[in-house]
Amino acid sequence: MNEFELIQAYFSTLASKGAGRGVELGIGDDCAILNPPANSQLVVSTDTLIAGVHFPESTSAFDIGFKSLAVNLSDLAAMGAYPLWFTLCITLPDRDTQWIEGFCNGMAKLVQQTGIQLVGGDTTKGPLSISVHVTGDVPIGKALTRHGASVGDDVYVSGVIGHGAAGLNMALSGFDAPDDKRFDRCFLDALQRFNQPQPRLGLGLALRGIATSCIDISDGLLADLEHVLCASKAGASLKLELVPLSDAVMKSDLFGDKSEREKRLLACNAGDDYELCFTVPESKRESVEALAVEQSVILTRIGKVVEGASIVEEGGCVELVSLGYQHF
Ligand code: ADP
Ligand code: MG
Repeated sequence: MNEFELIQAYFSTLASKGAGRGVELGIGDDCAILNPPANSQLVVSTDTLIAGVHFPESTSAFDIGFKSLAVNLSDLAAMGAYPLWFTLCITLPDRDTQWIEGFCNGMAKLVQQTGIQLVGGDTTKGPLSISVHVTGDVPIGKALTRHGASVGDDVYVSGVIGHGAAGLNMALSGFDAPDDKRFDRCFLDALQRFNQPQPRLGLGLALRGIATSCIDISDGLLADLEHVLCASKAGASLKLELVPLSDAVMKSDLFGDKSEREKRLLACNAGDDYELCFTVPESKRESVEALAVEQSVILTRIGKVVEGASIVEEGGCVELVSLGYQHF
C-alpha cells in the first residue's frame, strides 16, 4: 500500500464519519475549503504526541488515536468552543496497516461522539509522532480565556484529579489485565481515563457566560491554575483538602508509603487529567450547581482568586509550588 492508498483506505474513511459542518471540500485536494459559521470566531489549537513522552510505548494504537484527538478537543473545551474540523499530520515508522486501522478506530470513536471532521493532513515516514490541529467556533466575543479571573471569584475544578497520575503509574508498571486481583474497579477507571481522556466539551460550552476564565488540566492542576493566575494577574487561595481526588490515588500503593496530603499534592502536580479548572463570580454559584446537574459532572469549589501572584493554602501562608511537566 502506498501513501495515497493509505490515505484513501484509512484517513478518508475516518473523515467520512465526521458531521461535515461547513466542509465545502475535504481530503483530496491541495487544501480543504471550509465555511465558518456566521457570526462566529474560529478557535484553533495544535498538540503533538510523541511516543515515550506523551504516551507509554506500550499504549495500544486505538488509545493513541483516541488520545491524540482527545487532548486537542480538551483545548477547545477550555475555550468554550464547538468542535468543527481537524487535520492530522502523522509520521509512521512503517506501513503497519493493522496499527493504522486501530489508530483510526480510536479516533473514529471521538469523531462519532463529537462530529468533528478530519479535513486534511500529511503522512510521512519516521519515528512515530502525531500532530493534530483542531478548529472550533464560538459566537463572537464569547470564548473562555485564561485572562478573565478577578479577585473574589471562586475557583472550581471538574471531575476528579489524579486519574492521570494513577493511570500513568499503572501503565508503566505493566498493569493491563482487567481481572488482575490486586486492583479494584477504581484502578481500571483511572487507566481507562488515562488512555481515553474524555474532553469536557459540553461543560466548556455551558460555561460560556458563567466562567470568567477557564483552562484544561493537562500539565497538573497547580501548574495550569498558575497559567490562569499569571494571565489574570492575580493569586489564588486553595483548600487542598477540598480537591476531589481520584480513588485510584487514595487507595493505591503505587505511590509508595505516602500520607494523604502527599498524595494530594502529587495528584495536583501530575498531568493528563483533562478536567477543566475555571473561575466564576460568587454571585453565580447557583448557576454552577445547576450546571453540574445538567452536565452530570462533579464541579467542586476548591478556593478563591485573591490578590497576589501565587497559589497559597487557605488559612495559612504556605505557598503551593507547582511542579508541572516541562519539556525543556
Ligand atoms: P500535497 O502533496 O499536496 O501536500 P498530500 O499528498 O500530502 O498532498 O496529501 C493528499 C491529500 O490527502 C491532501 O488533501 C491531504 O490533506 C490529505 N492527507 C494526507 N495525509 C493525511 C492524513 N494523515 N489525514 C488526513 N488527510 C491526509
Ligand atoms: Mg502534503
